[in-house]
Amino acid sequence: MAATILVVEDEPAIQELISYNLKQAGHQAMKADNAEQALNLVQNALPDLILLDWMLPGISGVEFARRLRTDKRTRQIPIIMLTARSEEQDKLTGLETGADDYITKPFSPRELNARVKAVLRRRAPQMTDDLVQVGALKLDPASHRVTGQGQTVDLGPTEFRLLHFLMTHPERVHSRTQLLDHVWGDHVFVEERTVDVHIRRLRKALEPTTLDSLIQTVRGTGYRLSAN
Ligand code: CA
Repeated sequence: MAATILVVEDEPAIQELISYNLKQAGHQAMKADNAEQALNLVQNALPDLILLDWMLPGISGVEFARRLRTDKRTRQIPIIMLTARSEEQDKLTGLETGADDYITKPFSPRELNARVKAVLRRRAPQMTDDLVQVGALKLDPASHRVTGQGQTVDLGPTEFRLLHFLMTHPERVHSRTQLLDHVWGDHVFVEERTVDVHIRRLRKALEPTTLDSLIQTVRGTGYRLSAN
């Protein structure tokens, strides 16, 4: 389960330690010393999760979390707040601003990894290795295998990620921009048309199983995977 995780922390030693632990756990770490830097990074590429220090110079962690939650594009990013405070009231304030979880410093690498894993499983199922099934279509991230009606489906890496995202978020319409954000991550240099190209390839690969009909085009909006 490799995720791209943004660490927003102004203390260099802690930032380094967290990034090191995340990399050890197989994740990719992006680093920011403050909220302004973090906002710039998020503008270019959406991370799968943000580890956010409560006490930051300038824009505070709580304010940054609020901003992310009010922007449609960043609203869904899971956030874990890092803090030296352990008072119940602060915890509540953190969760009210939209944080998914809360870790009190100092914490062990083991606790950090366990929290990260739990939040990803809950909020970003496409980042986990859990087997997904929609109708007669099955996708196993661990073995990188897709089967439809029992037949093996051969997919390129992008089609695999695209299908994984659609299958973990079924019955919902995703715009091309949203798909670029979630599947490609960094969409600055990718045109929206690229999504159509990969959807076409995905449908073609699914055709022999007749399950290409699961991927629906929603005119003027985007795409949806539906078993109905
Ligand atoms: Ca701090």
